[in-house]
Amino acid sequence: MHKKLFIPGPVEVKDDVLKMMAKPMIGHRTKEASKLQRDISEKLMKLFYTENQIILSTTSGSGLMESAIRSCTRKRAAVFAVGAFGKRWYEMAIANNVPADLYEVEWGTPTTKESVDEVLATGKYDVVTVTHNETSTGVMNPVDEIGEVVKKYPDVVFLVDAVSSAGGAKIEVDKCGIDVCITSTQKALGLPPGLAICTASEKAIEAARQVEHRGFYLDLVKLYDTIKKKDHQYPSTPSLSHMFALDYKLDKILEEGLDNRFNRHAEMAKYVRNWANEYFELLPDERYASNTLTNIKNTREISVGELNKALGERGFMISNGYGKLKEKTFRIAHMADTTLEEVKELLENIEDILKL
Ligand SMILES: *Cc1c(COP(=O)(O)O)cnc(C)c1O
Repeated sequence: MHKKLFIPGPVEVKDDVLKMMAKPMIGHRTKEASKLQRDISEKLMKLFYTENQIILSTTSGSGLMESAIRSCTRKRAAVFAVGAFGKRWYEMAIANNVPADLYEVEWGTPTTKESVDEVLATGKYDVVTVTHNETSTGVMNPVDEIGEVVKKYPDVVFLVDAVSSAGGAKIEVDKCGIDVCITSTQKALGLPPGLAICTASEKAIEAARQVEHRGFYLDLVKLYDTIKKKDHQYPSTPSLSHMFALDYKLDKILEEGLDNRFNRHAEMAKYVRNWANEYFELLPDERYASNTLTNIKNTREISVGELNKALGERGFMISNGYGKLKEKTFRIAHMADTTLEEVKELLENIEDILKL
């Protein structure tokens, strides 16, 4: 039996989108391939509220995170982590011999504009990384407020991980001054895993040009320049199947309407938070709770593993707590094309299994 996924990626993918992955191939150096990338870019620019260049990479989201921190850091990166994915930027920096410092807070709390201001005021950094939506804790950071602070430091390149929120929550890239905003296909966009997406400002690319060793496959400048010089093509062969599906899916997203889509996510999140507050507790500070997934404290000390097994027999799947939070919390994703009705059905099944 197929289990309906309520995990924070991969998510359920609609049949019509899956079918687009099976389209016959085209040459990747053809006019058709250029048009495909151009069309995708125009639609993604709307989704990200940006005039910046869109870059795709045939990796998962982590590929462009590594690309961005390695390519853009000339001096030193300040990494703000509110959970496991925030910390991943730091691990990437260290693995690439990129100088970086990690600023971590207690899991469940956000990155504040004050903390970013204080750290950038030292003048030590020319890159700052922030997680928009921390999937390990269910915290959604105020990137608009943080962006206002980063704007005070014109040399600092602002990198944002929006892997588990882009397409499910509004992120106004240009207004927030985000230089590189990264996401993956398998989360709130509702596609299979395998493609990463980012926006790239000229400022980010100019900074990267000053960095001598940017790697090869994930060199942000090479990706950017190839798109510009070769009419929207890529240095290597991209996953055209994903691009067919993404192009199609973006039409569906724009047909739904971005505001409608964000409101649907907000409505599902509110419902799950209320449910969590009634039967359990929320892990994050509710003012910063995510609209794409809810992280719930296991205050009843249930076996999350057993719950998921019982849910599996009924055709559902949720997530255990991430890393050190395993069995201490559980996570319900409500992203991409999930509806409030489906969320209600899931929660009724949980109530039934746990006899709440
Ligand atoms: C899933 C996730 C990632 C990693 O993305 P991949 O596409 O699996 O590489 C990074 N950051 C956040 C916040 C995520 O949720």
